Amino acid sequence: MAYENFNVETDADGIALVTWDIPGKSMNVIDETSGAELAAIIEQMTSDAAVKGVVITSGKDAFCAGADLTMLERMNRTYAEMLSSQGEEVANKYVFDEARKLSQSFRNIEVGGKPWVAAINGTALGGGFELTLACHYRIASDNPKTRVGLPEVKVGIFPGGGGTQRLPRMMPTMDAVQMLFKGEAIDLKKAQDRGIIGEVVPAADLIQRAKDWIKVGGKAVAPWDEKGFKLPGGPVYSKEGAQFFQPAAAMLRRETYDNYPGARAILQCVYEGLQLPMDTALRVESRYFSKILRSNEAAAMIRSLFMSMQELNKGARRPPNVPPIKVKKIAVIGAGFMGASVGFVSAQAGIDVVLIDRDQDAADKGKGHSKANIDAAVSKGRMKRADGEAILSRITATADYNAISDCDLVIEAVFEDRKVKAETYAKAQPLLKEGAIFATNTSTLPINSLAEEWKDQSKFIGIHFFSPVEKMMLSEIIVGKNTGDVALATALDYVRQIKKTPIVVNDSRGFFANRCVMLFLFEGYEMLLEGVPPAMIENTAKMAGMPVGPLSLNDETALDLGLKILRATEADIGAQAINQDHKKLLVELVEKRGRLGRKNGKGFYDYPEKGKGQKKLWPELTTLQPKHLDPDTLDVEELKQRFLVVQAVEAARTVEDDVITDPREADVGSILGFGFPPFTGGTLSYIDFMGTKKFVEQCLKLEKKYGSRFTPPKLLIDMAAKNETFYGRFPPKKAAAA
Ligand code: NAD
Repeated sequence: MAYENFNVETDADGIALVTWDIPGKSMNVIDETSGAELAAIIEQMTSDAAVKGVVITSGKDAFCAGADLTMLERMNRTYAEMLSSQGEEVANKYVFDEARKLSQSFRNIEVGGKPWVAAINGTALGGGFELTLACHYRIASDNPKTRVGLPEVKVGIFPGGGGTQRLPRMMPTMDAVQMLFKGEAIDLKKAQDRGIIGEVVPAADLIQRAKDWIKVGGKAVAPWDEKGFKLPGGPVYSKEGAQFFQPAAAMLRRETYDNYPGARAILQCVYEGLQLPMDTALRVESRYFSKILRSNEAAAMIRSLFMSMQELNKGARRPPNVPPIKVKKIAVIGAGFMGASVGFVSAQAGIDVVLIDRDQDAADKGKGHSKANIDAAVSKGRMKRADGEAILSRITATADYNAISDCDLVIEAVFEDRKVKAETYAKAQPLLKEGAIFATNTSTLPINSLAEEWKDQSKFIGIHFFSPVEKMMLSEIIVGKNTGDVALATALDYVRQIKKTPIVVNDSRGFFANRCVMLFLFEGYEMLLEGVPPAMIENTAKMAGMPVGPLSLNDETALDLGLKILRATEADIGAQAINQDHKKLLVELVEKRGRLGRKNGKGFYDYPEKGKGQKKLWPELTTLQPKHLDPDTLDVEELKQRFLVVQAVEAARTVEDDVITDPREADVGSILGFGFPPFTGGTLSYIDFMGTKKFVEQCLKLEKKYGSRFTPPKLLIDMAAKNETFYGRFPPKKAAAA
């Protein structure tokens, strides 16, 4: 039988080689066609008496990237349609039956009576990895880039093709659950240590060795289908089981605050499944899977963290009239905290970098940052010395501005001071080569005002990096009113070259990300001044899903910087533009108590010396509170809500102000840029999934109690009246260069 996505060849020994190779795609994914063909192949292999065993491999560099998430999204849409047309029972059955198909196919491999070997020639993730787990043996070729794992939890779902059952039957329950919770993709050495991969062999020998395993009598029965099978981590109801499951439930709560139904379902599947025979256990997994797939959290995370992110990375916002640009050489002016890191990530991406500062020493210090990064990576075994040397050789440190004259892109990261920036622009302007672009990394100064220093404003743009640049995956590109298409296209192409995700926003004070996250920090000040115990402020923010509390985040970004920004805003727009109580609080902390944040070991927290314990909330903080509320009288749900609503309503204002023109950018930007809870799908999805009407009601309730920071903008009120969503009213633009 001929298949579209698979090639099947049976050799003289009766061993079939199934090669997965979806035509026209760079990666194999499990979609409707591949899934159906795979089911047919499994049936054919099982029923064909001439086939003695099966080796499955891939014709691509990687084995399989996992399930096609757009297929899951389609399933969800069909579910919604069926729900309204045929009712809940029929719709639920549809999702369950669909979820069951793949799991059943994999089980058919396991119990079909023929030995199957997975010849893993490259990375195998998600459903692709689950397919290999259902095979009776796994051999991998020794490719250092290969990773195996189950990353589903990262998009709000979990492995529904047997992964939650097979892994804890192969390794101690704790290791399996950790791997499932973290969505970790591990290398072959770890996979071998954990007993997932049997052998690692040279690529040229892979298929032969897989066939040999069958020829020498490889068993066509999984260990758990044999009599006397013992779980590696012990039965659920045993001393070992009790030692694991009770703390595991507590750990899950500590890590997720129960905001992620997908993560909870992993533990439920493992707990219930390990008490059952495999077939029933797999049905249990499918039930949970179909339930999680229908959750808002899964829909929101798949949309924002997979589809939207992919679309933005593919250049959804790129002007289609500009041909692709490969940035070969950049200059970074200002080799300080940010500039040095921008230089490093660029050189790491193969771009030549000139680091310019006021004098040679300062420029050298900037390059020294790259050396320190490289030394640390080499000593941890994460980088080869030669690769590190190659990165360093691409960086030139100098105080001479003439060095920018052959650069495709210049990024300015000098002090956040209009005068200093203007001086830099005056010096750089005449030296730019034809077609080169100039970007500023300012975090607060409006781009349009800085553009006034430029003769040709079309080449001026903002590229806002987030600190630490090496870790943060977002870059916010700010388009001024006269920024040209070439500047935008260059900025987007450069951001992709350094492997960050770009969002494109229009100019405004604080742009998008800082506007929203500032309100999160301010809400922390507000609660402090109201008398909420500091620990409760921090904990409720984390319970709401933020990665850290507002006081902690403030310490990281530095309290003196916060004060500086308040003062600059006051100077630019007037005293009414800021909250004077916030300023007073910061003046007290920074100027009277010398508390600058983590950088001097004293902020809202006290920081012990390195290696000497953990940070602790500064005990005297409560003395700065004008009053103290009894925690038992506080409404925890309302505190949580305030943190998210205050950021989301600001995000809605950025849409009204035309700073955000595409909802995907607010969503992806808020998750990657400042850790808005991923399970919500981002600031605007948070509103969409709640329902605009309900969100406006919440805003009005909070406005009445706490003031105008919760006042919903007109746009939201209008949308609520028409029952509109952001994605409905502002449909995302199609990718120009898919
Ligand atoms: P920094 O003080 O660490 O670095 C600034 C560097 O610019 C210094 O090395 C200084 O010597 C150099 N410099 C000053 N004038 C110069 C000139 N005329 N020519 C060449 N070099 C000059 O500051 P930073 O924190 O790296 O901030 C730089 C820019 O990045 C600012 O605009 C800031 O708003 C922005 N930014 C900072 C962060 C952050 O978290 N610190 C985040 C995003 C953006």
